[in-house]
Amino acid sequence: MDHNNTSNFIKDIIIKDLETGKHDKVITRFPPEPNGYLHIGHAKSIILNFGLADEFNGLTNLRFDDTNPAKEDIEYVNSIKEDVKWLGFDWDGLFFASNYFEEMYNHAVLLIKKGLAYVDDLSADEIREYRGTLTEPGKESPFRNRSVEENLELFEKMRSGNYGNGEKVLRAKIDMGSPNINLRDPIIYRITHATHHNTGDKWCIYPMYAFAHPLEDAIEGVTHSICTIEFEDQRPLYNWVVENCEMDSKPQQIEFGRLNITNTVMSKRKLKKLVDEGFVDGWDDPRMPTISGMRRKGFTPASIREFVRETGVSKGSGAVDSQMLDHFVREDLKLKAPRTMGVVRPLKIVITNYPEGQVEWLDAENNPEVPEMGMRKIPFSREIYIEQDDFMENPPAKYHRLFPGNEVRLKHAYFIKCEEFIKDENGEVIELHCTYDPETKSGTGFTGRKVKGTIHWVEASVAVPAEFRLYEPLILDETGEDDSEGEEKTFLDHVNPNSIEILQGFVEPNMAETKVQDKFQFFRHGYFNVDPKMTTKEKLVFNRIVSLKSSFKL
Ligand code: ATP
Ligand code: MG
Repeated sequence: MDHNNTSNFIKDIIIKDLETGKHDKVITRFPPEPNGYLHIGHAKSIILNFGLADEFNGLTNLRFDDTNPAKEDIEYVNSIKEDVKWLGFDWDGLFFASNYFEEMYNHAVLLIKKGLAYVDDLSADEIREYRGTLTEPGKESPFRNRSVEENLELFEKMRSGNYGNGEKVLRAKIDMGSPNINLRDPIIYRITHATHHNTGDKWCIYPMYAFAHPLEDAIEGVTHSICTIEFEDQRPLYNWVVENCEMDSKPQQIEFGRLNITNTVMSKRKLKKLVDEGFVDGWDDPRMPTISGMRRKGFTPASIREFVRETGVSKGSGAVDSQMLDHFVREDLKLKAPRTMGVVRPLKIVITNYPEGQVEWLDAENNPEVPEMGMRKIPFSREIYIEQDDFMENPPAKYHRLFPGNEVRLKHAYFIKCEEFIKDENGEVIELHCTYDPETKSGTGFTGRKVKGTIHWVEASVAVPAEFRLYEPLILDETGEDDSEGEEKTFLDHVNPNSIEILQGFVEPNMAETKVQDKFQFFRHGYFNVDPKMTTKEKLVFNRIVSLKSSFKL
């Protein structure tokens, strides 16, 4: 595995813990909530957790943090497993928080018995009101001083289904005057009457994240519990839970800055909105920053891993330029993807001096940078397609492609000269008549004269029809999301109405053999992936992953 060999502050902590003997084995976990598909931000957490354990011969669990049945689904569980594997990682233990519900319940009972938890009848609004603010201390609930016996009885009744949603909660009894709001008697259990994807209708009370997460980590013997920076203020509560529930294992929570990318929203809540409101065509739409969307667009696991490695690990969370992702996929595909020719906006050419009915097969390299990738034969005849933009009736200066009287090189073939153009009734150019010079055949070493332009083409009679999907950023806001837990920005206002362009063109005939997810570099157009969902026996659909050029410099 190509893990990160550069140092970072989390690695320094681990090295010290191993040196001092605090731990003899590193155990990390990746703990997604199965309430959506994984995105590129999760890839950062995956690579960090698996990468660190890997580097120190430790273990990494995949643990589903499934404590909120209303939003979770087995579809998400399955997609998450697939995505983690696709990124190149293999978990040691596969766990579900829901497998620990009984154990967590017992820990809550222990807290009640120790006088450290109580059942509260205040409503959600009242609890919020009583909590105070950053500058004002909170106020104690009138139910705070219930007896242990009463709390035990009420908590059991909560479990048995005697109350409706929100009627009662269990709260940790810590300190309503704490400067850290997270310690002002946080809710640790709530009532939710909903069917859970794993435990069905067995439970109607569910532990809150802040209570469940430290217990899950401790139960599994996780040594380093890596999470994003917004949980920093929850660390004292995390430690309080581990301590007061008398857990044998004492995991350490370590926070790092989340990954943010320009022109990208990443929180699952926002991504779900894009799906639910039809802005995209599902979680795996190639415009989505989800792992499944990026896979479908054509990103490779290696390009994502390299990108994440380059972003580094720190406490800060400035937005990374989205072009950096493009850079890494270009780098990865440069020597792997075969090169070929495809015409996305076809314009027909008749080569008037080429013999009718003749087809010749020309030699073309599959990747001039990688001779081992071999050669292929491409057909050439009297009728070919070129790009509409490779012809102009009245070209500006420095236009070196086809215009009346001008000569260009056809890649892998001959020089052709534009003799005539034909327009339809709307004045659109629909066909060119050209002549070719047999002396100029590619590979024969012709040096008689030079032309300035080289264009691509596809022979018309056997060309394979193909659809090309070209993408622009889905979100026009260049600042990048700052924090998924932050206030709802009007991100839907920034959705690009022109994020996709669908074109019907042609590719070389040997492309009929391609399989979904195969990747190619189309000469002059960029890198493309054969779409796994839209491609049918009748029609190939190519997603453009990235264009060839970028001004981006690392
Ligand atoms: P979202 O806000 O998108 O719903 P989340 O943090 O709620 O994300 P979880 O399923 O709880 O999603 O996350 C699993 C792990 O992935 C957590 O440890 C979380 O901190 C981490 N993670 C999520 N988003 C990012 C990000 N943008 N950068 C780095 N790590 C992330
Ligand atoms: Mg979440």
